[in-house]
Amino acid sequence: MHWPWPDDDIDVRRVQPYEATKAYLCPGCNREIPAGTGHVVAVPRTSPDDRRHWHRGCWDRRASRRPRP
Ligand SMILES: [Zn+2]
Repeated sequence: MHWPWPDDDIDVRRVQPYEATKAYLCPGCNREIPAGTGHVVAVPRTSPDDRRHWHRGCWDRRASRRPRP
């Protein structure tokens, strides 16, 4: 997985189940996020087209691996 952006450069948006109208591939676990599942979108401020959809749990675990100072 290629995710070079530091947390400070990312906007994280929560996607509610009713907003998830299609399936996405989560880069944290490489498994599908089914449509209708609440999740998060991580949007690099400098490169919004490279946004990725993550399971909430995967995003939280990712953050815990790289604790903020
Ligand atoms: Zn995941």
